[in-house]
Amino acid sequence: MIITTSEPQGTMQDFIYTCASFYTKLLGIAHFPDTNVHIQIVDALALPCGALGMCHAADDSEIEIEIAVLDGAHDWLETMAHELVHVRQELEDWSHFCEVEAYTLEKPLRAALRHYISNPMERVYAEEAL
Ligand SMILES: [Zn+2]
Repeated sequence: MIITTSEPQGTMQDFIYTCASFYTKLLGIAHFPDTNVHIQIVDALALPCGALGMCHAADDSEIEIEIAVLDGAHDWLETMAHELVHVRQELEDWSHFCEVEAYTLEKPLRAALRHYISNPMERVYAEEAL
């Protein structure tokens, strides 16, 4: 899997790669060879009313995620986890996205990421915690 982002080269881009790579590894989709997941950070107003994230998949090779970053009003890394669950659903050929699974997994994924970031040497522990 190739992860790209619209963010310019720098700390934020590196951070997005780190977080998205961690999530895709935990979700077991990091190995998909022909999938490009593009992560776009957007203004909340760019998304349909109330949405914090979107996942668009024309096919398995090009999947786009939009994540709204508000002024600390919500945890956008939880949104990233949620949208990457939808990416896995797409790759597993689910007929439609399941919100129940995405909402169920977003918090434990986010908790594992938090643990990973604060304890980079304990990566294995974080992966087993999910
Ligand atoms: Zn969703």
